[in-house]
Amino acid sequence: MLEINTNIVTSDGRISKFNEEKIIVQIKKDAKAAKIEIPEEQLNRIVENVKYQIGCLNGIQLTGSLIRGIVNGVLLQEKLPAVYRMSQRNGVPLSDYLQYLEGNGKDQNENANQMKGPETDHKWLADRTAKEMVLNFLPIDLAQLYINGSVHWHDMEYFLRRPFCFDSDLRYIFYYGLLSDGSGTHTPYAGPAKHPETAIIHACTALGSQQTCFAGGQGYQNFLLFVAPYMKGLTYKKIKQHLQMFVFQMGQMIVARGGQVIFSSVQLMPGVPKIWKDKPVVAFGKVFNGKQEKLWTYGELEREVRLMYKAITEVYLEGDYNGKPHSFPKYEMVLKREFLDEDWDKSYKDSPSYKELYEDSFKLAAKFGSPYIDNQLPEYRDVENGISCFQCCSYSFGANEQTVKNFNKKLYFEDGEHFSLGSKQVASLNLPQLAYLSGRDYNILLQKTKQLIDKVIEFFYIKEELIKKSNLPFAYQTPLDPNDSTKRAPPFVDLSELPYIIGIVGLNECVEHFCGQPIHKSEKSWIWGLKYIADIKDYVSKLNTPFIVSLARTPAESTAQRFAVCDCFNNNDLIKNASRKVIKGDLTQAIKDFSNGSDLPIYYSNGTHLDVSAEVTLFEKIKYEEPFFLILDGGNICHLYIGEKETDPKALMEFCLNVAKNTNISYFTINKNYTGCLECNFFGGGLLEKCPKCGSDNVEGYARITGYFMPISGWNKGKKAELKNRKLHNDFK
Ligand SMILES: [Zn+2]
Repeated sequence: MLEINTNIVTSDGRISKFNEEKIIVQIKKDAKAAKIEIPEEQLNRIVENVKYQIGCLNGIQLTGSLIRGIVNGVLLQEKLPAVYRMSQRNGVPLSDYLQYLEGNGKDQNENANQMKGPETDHKWLADRTAKEMVLNFLPIDLAQLYINGSVHWHDMEYFLRRPFCFDSDLRYIFYYGLLSDGSGTHTPYAGPAKHPETAIIHACTALGSQQTCFAGGQGYQNFLLFVAPYMKGLTYKKIKQHLQMFVFQMGQMIVARGGQVIFSSVQLMPGVPKIWKDKPVVAFGKVFNGKQEKLWTYGELEREVRLMYKAITEVYLEGDYNGKPHSFPKYEMVLKREFLDEDWDKSYKDSPSYKELYEDSFKLAAKFGSPYIDNQLPEYRDVENGISCFQCCSYSFGANEQTVKNFNKKLYFEDGEHFSLGSKQVASLNLPQLAYLSGRDYNILLQKTKQLIDKVIEFFYIKEELIKKSNLPFAYQTPLDPNDSTKRAPPFVDLSELPYIIGIVGLNECVEHFCGQPIHKSEKSWIWGLKYIADIKDYVSKLNTPFIVSLARTPAESTAQRFAVCDCFNNNDLIKNASRKVIKGDLTQAIKDFSNGSDLPIYYSNGTHLDVSAEVTLFEKIKYEEPFFLILDGGNICHLYIGEKETDPKALMEFCLNVAKNTNISYFTINKNYTGCLECNFFGGGLLEKCPKCGSDNVEGYARITGYFMPISGWNKGKKAELKNRKLHNDFK
């Protein structure tokens, strides 16, 4: 037996004597995690081999990391790859980190919401490590599907720990108070808000806390309604001041994951919807149901909700101090039949009519393009007797008596019952790759798609187990009832109500490969695409799982590029050659730059969308994209790109109401591009190379990436290529 008598530097920086017992303990631990038992004889052989190699190092300072590297090499020689996967140390070479500091790091532009700064560095380090760990953690076949670009497991860095996105019910915070750490042990326990300022601060802080438990977006459904009790009787000026505080505060707190702004959204309705009119107000730590406090219903807050809608729209219209639009919270305006039909142009007390309020929203759409239009008019949305919202770029969630248990109790906040809307995890399918592998045989394509969906479901089962065990203090909080200390609240987030989402990317290129023409060029291609998505939906809806699964278009801010790069440079020549015929962007440049990394200027069309460069009218675009809304129950969006010229708000409103009333497009945006000057603070429409005011070329362009407005310099090259190709429509025809 070899004796080694030397010091090693441990991973936490101490000096310690070499101890072979520690190596044995670690190997046993890794083997246990891999569910493998290594025979004693083999274990001894491994240790002797490791010691022999250490002996050959001749005076090099030993570290924990170095020894582990040697052990890993021996584990592979011993044909123990599963143990190696558990033992492998994940991390980042120093040279990569230095490259990152210079601004050329891997994945540095994956998410345009991330700024550059010390917090972002940490997130980048942690993300890279966590992603590698997840690939080692997942069963090999599931990891391989990701590596091959067949699927995208979204937000992998958070896979082991966090659910995806959440839209919360503010009544909970206004009744129980704010426990920003979930228990009040690490942070002060704030009782229920009693003043409007406190209510606004609690609303901001709660989203800040919430995002520490989730991977994606955070928002409030029907934001104005639930804050309205605090605005009762206030002047318009006061109300506007409070909402201005909210918008600036949400847009300025760079406290989210890695020093980002919280990815937030607020659902805005210009009045009190019918379903809430006779429900008791929940605020000031009370339920005003005639028992706890004298009866007070949300219907009595019509004036406040209208004035708040006017005020928040004005805040967005004014933009920031430089006149730049507010990106967050995302302004989600709701078109609802009751507001369009009844009292359409009647004012209420000292507040404006719905018509005037919507006109303001379309002024905002014409000026900045910032509103997201949540169109609740189409019959299939079925929202008259329920609640519904969009979240996180385009996922759609809803609740009604048929779909959610205790729906009525939730409306009345009985025993603290409230709504939980959001999603646990998203996984996207690479549709073009499925098409390349199917030899243009539809049955084979469908069979392969179903097999891939089955794998996605396996992945969801793993997630389900993980989040059951995960410690999410803010999400799982159960505060004491402020009016009855024998009762505790139900958990803030009820994960059982949150669905899993299967996303799709690249239907257009899938169709182009299969039928020879992209969606907008042939009726046959379009119909084929519709049938394919309907067949996928049919399969998903018949799955027998203990959790809810829905089908959606994914935002695909990085996925549209990643799938394109995986296919274009795939080891399988069939995939490689076929993809190069349909891929969008600058293929020649991508081939040239491939050796420098994977941030390349190519992409697939997102979801079921047309090619962004398609030479079609706005009406044709809507016609082709509309029917997919009926199939994608998990959410979809239609982006309308309008030109750089001044847009007439009245014409825009007429056009949008026409789309809302006569089509099944349930969620859409009007997109415009802007330039801001970093020298003189000029801000104006169009993507300009030079500032028209001072002539400086130190300018930044702004556009909507997939969901939200962001400076273009932070976009990945795939999205930049897409931006260049987007066809702009200069009139509403
Ligand atoms: Zn300037």
